[in-house]
Amino acid sequence: MNELDVEVLVVGGGPVGLCAAIELARHGISVLLVERRADTSIFPKARLITTRTMELLRGWGIQEEVERAGMPREEYLAVGVGSSLTAADFLRSAAELDRDAPQSPTYTFLCAQDRLEVILRRLAESRPEAEVWFGATMTGMRPTAGGVTATVNRADGETLVRCRYLVAADGSRSGVREGLGIAAEGPPPLGHMISIMFEADLGFLSPDRRAALSFLRDPPCAVEAVDHERRWMVQTGYEPELGGSPADFTEEACLAAVRAAVGVPGLPVTILGVMPWLQQAMVAAAFRAGPVFLAGDAAHVATPQGGFGMNCGIQDAHNLAWKLAAVLRGTAGEELLDTYEAERRPVAARTVDESLNNALITFDMMEGRLSMREAIERQAGRRSCEGLVLGFGYDSRAVVSDGTAPPAPADPYRTYVPTARPGHRAPHVWLHGPDGRVSTLDLLGPRFTLLAAAGAGWPGQAAEAARRTGVSLTTVEIAAAEIAAGEIAAGEIAAAEIASVEIAADDPSTPRPTPTSTPEESSPHVPGDPFTVAGRCRSGPFLSPTWAKEYGLGPEGAVLIRPDGHVAWRSPDGPASAPALTKAVDRVLSRR
Ligand SMILES: Cc1cc2nc3c(=O)[nH]c(=O)nc-3n(C[C@H](O)[C@H](O)[C@H](O)COP(=O)(O)OP(=O)(O)OC[C@H]3O[C@@H](n4cnc5c(N)ncnc54)[C@H](O)[C@@H]3O)c2cc1C
Repeated sequence: MNELDVEVLVVGGGPVGLCAAIELARHGISVLLVERRADTSIFPKARLITTRTMELLRGWGIQEEVERAGMPREEYLAVGVGSSLTAADFLRSAAELDRDAPQSPTYTFLCAQDRLEVILRRLAESRPEAEVWFGATMTGMRPTAGGVTATVNRADGETLVRCRYLVAADGSRSGVREGLGIAAEGPPPLGHMISIMFEADLGFLSPDRRAALSFLRDPPCAVEAVDHERRWMVQTGYEPELGGSPADFTEEACLAAVRAAVGVPGLPVTILGVMPWLQQAMVAAAFRAGPVFLAGDAAHVATPQGGFGMNCGIQDAHNLAWKLAAVLRGTAGEELLDTYEAERRPVAARTVDESLNNALITFDMMEGRLSMREAIERQAGRRSCEGLVLGFGYDSRAVVSDGTAPPAPADPYRTYVPTARPGHRAPHVWLHGPDGRVSTLDLLGPRFTLLAAAGAGWPGQAAEAARRTGVSLTTVEIAAAEIAAGEIAAGEIAAAEIASVEIAADDPSTPRPTPTSTPEESSPHVPGDPFTVAGRCRSGPFLSPTWAKEYGLGPEGAVLIRPDGHVAWRSPDGPASAPALTKAVDRVLSRR
């Protein structure tokens, strides 16, 4: 039997497993991903990529590639209802395109999951830190003193994989979750569903009959655009209690279902595939068992209504990867890993609940409790969900509370109120930099980042804190616009970048050496590489008349941002202080 040692084993090569492998590689962690399918999924299950996920893809340098693979942006908020796509009663509602954009350098986007997975797989495979095995099934695992030992089967034989941590991204029917005896909590399944993927030229439909998603009543089903040109999906259901089963969906039955949904008998159609799935809403009772972490559908399943499942799972991977990396590199205490469940489970539970609320609107419409006009108004209103996807905050020991209350918008699903309160996603603010406009989010890389008021002395204090803690800190000074650009020397800012220091793995008590190496020598940070340097540019000066106000900072304030883009600590009024920053870093990394 072959043997392999890696730091992290990721089980499952769906979007969440792929993102976990990418983010771990980005932190310089050796990772093996195993996926039992021979290739990425052919089914465009998820299509909606939320603003937050798009921000992560932007940070990895693949935003443009995903946009080229996706649907025209102006289509994504369009929802239709009617008896069929060609029926006289068909109504379409499209919300305004740019409503979400001011809060982010990017936006919600529609790209079919099958196309996204291809892009993610290519990126994961391009990283030297990651091994990606498709056609490889994990058949068994057992915890050991040093982590987990797993058996992986491939066509060329069996491999014994030893890893420190295992990320189970093995989907809603997670064998890992079941094997660990972790309960899946939630109501009974809401429906037994079938997705029929088909190809047809629907170019004869006028623009006001084409929508990203249409709910149809005669017979009840939904039609989804996949590429908005030739590939589409019909979603319908069956009732096992009445003897229904996936086997009922023969080629002939699928053709009939598609033609009825379009409302054109005899329409030329090619059926590309049929996928049965369960409409359900569940959250796992625990997200961690020792060295094993559940992520994505293995940890929570949302109804597809709203488009949250994959996105929520990708945020899991993003939250977990930097924590695993910090513990594996010895810069954090093991307790940091407990914050994964503390932070992600409440967010997942709320997301799943909101997906249930969305599903209820559809049920009310399909069962006649809502008129079509009422239904389309509610459905269109629920397409805007920036409050849910950008507004969530974490409350755990990996965040230093500053005693302020979170924003409380009247509609927390739709309304996102930007805040740099510790625990929340660092808000996007456009800055003026040497190369033009740059988002605060573009300045965040795989390290901790200190955004600081220029001229308050933070770079020197941050350098001292980095020396004391041995933790990489990137300091970026931002000046109020009235300070002339020439008054802040770019060299001063660059000098504040302190190299990461590798301390004996798993032993946070090891004395921390003073960093002496350069960033290039000791960290995965590669200047100019969009994968590791999220920003187009990190050397200032950066100017903004509003950023300090938007971040809740006075003229000497600073905010420490975690590698996942969430605020760790805020010092609203300063003064610049190495001891205060050191204390915050120690606390957030569970070192004391
Ligand atoms: C109709 C539909 C529409 C949806 N629309 C959206 C949407 O618009 N937006 C959104 O965010 N979400 C949407 N979702 C949900 C989304 O598809 C899922 O949340 C997403 O696929 C979960 O990704 P995952 O990587 O966690 O799991 P999966 O995609 O299920 O991947 C798990 C992988 O693990 C592999 N695996 C399992 N066991 C093993 C093993 N022992 N060894 C090796 N490999 C293994 C499986 O083969 C599988 O490929 C939709 C879902 C459906 C059904």
